[in-house]
Amino acid sequence: MNDKRLDLLRLILALAVVAGGAMVLMHRMRGGPDADGGQAAERGRTPYQLTWVSPDELQVHGRTMGPIPFKLILFPGEATVDQAERAAADSYAVLDRINRHMSAYLPDSDLSRLNEAPAGRAVTLDGELLALLEAAGDYTARTDGAFDPTARRLFQLWAAAGRTDRLPTDEQIAGALAMTGWRHLALDRPSGTAVKAIDTLQVDLGAIAKGYAVDQVIEAMRSAGMEAGLAEVGGEVRVFGPGPRDGAWLLGITDPFASADSGGRLAGTLAVTDRAVATSGNYYRFSVIGGRRYSHIIDPRTGRPADAVPSVTVIAGDCMTADVWATALSVLGPEGLTKIEAMDGVEAMMIIGRQGNAHVLQTPGFAAYLRGEIDLSAQ
Ligand code: ADP
Ligand code: MG
Repeated sequence: MNDKRLDLLRLILALAVVAGGAMVLMHRMRGGPDADGGQAAERGRTPYQLTWVSPDELQVHGRTMGPIPFKLILFPGEATVDQAERAAADSYAVLDRINRHMSAYLPDSDLSRLNEAPAGRAVTLDGELLALLEAAGDYTARTDGAFDPTARRLFQLWAAAGRTDRLPTDEQIAGALAMTGWRHLALDRPSGTAVKAIDTLQVDLGAIAKGYAVDQVIEAMRSAGMEAGLAEVGGEVRVFGPGPRDGAWLLGITDPFASADSGGRLAGTLAVTDRAVATSGNYYRFSVIGGRRYSHIIDPRTGRPADAVPSVTVIAGDCMTADVWATALSVLGPEGLTKIEAMDGVEAMMIIGRQGNAHVLQTPGFAAYLRGEIDLSAQ
């Protein structure tokens, strides 16, 4: 554990003491790799690391979908140690299954077979993947195209620009835009197949698969008899059952303007029960091209990075909804909040503008989850 992490631990312990002895669980979103950075998980025989942090709390750490850290907290309640450890194994199996079918970076995943297939060939896909693709297509319609996993060619273009430090040309952007869109993909659930209309269409589920996976893990924990739990994959979180702090779970929102070496100052803290929380932001993953920072979230309508919203947090009943809308709001900006207001059980907060001149916008129901207010005073 490095010094920064020790400082953070001290801070969390200090908070616990200030709070009067009750155990405080301050779960940090976007905190970067957990504890040992997942190394123990790679060294050990299991692909994840189990830790009983107290007799009633089992934690699981590891990585999935490539380098993405995940963290699970299981409160078994009346269930036995064996049942809890089996619930952890079931949860990991869910992550592994989703990764194997839905990751674009694994050359032999179902999704990669689709991405590599020529136009006109019916590709047989796992039913779960096909259902998620259908759901993703619906979200593209509902977000007016702000969320669009068929824009993989654009994501790749901007990722390459970050690596080579050269902005894409207008022609390259227009070329990738022409390869984007659900009109280039026909999904057929009865036959379990998908057919591309152009060779070059590719799909990337990176802005929905983490949230979807979190939901499936929560389902696995519940059906394995756990009393309460938390699942986080790459900063997308969902909790169920009574949390450790007066029945609630505390989740920290990272200050998007805090420097990396500040240990990840928090801009606010949420207290939630039976909710999912997702954040999107250009502070956590981004490219630097010509000395300027560009978000990893691309506006699929213009083909350019969406940089107006440094941080978005969405609270919803399920994590897929929260994940998708966090990305969509990063693209839509403040106008997107009216769409959230029209949805039952979904709330959002966005930090817009630049460091030193930023402000906070939120849906009316968001404040009910906040302890205190969003604090950007460090900017
Ligand atoms: P964040 O956690 O900041 O929302 P995610 O990792 O959830 O970011 O999603 C970003 C990833 O999703 C990108 O790396 C890219 O692969 C893909 N992506 C980028 N822009 C969009 C978009 N507008 N719609 C759908 N997927 C996107
Ligand atoms: Mg996301």
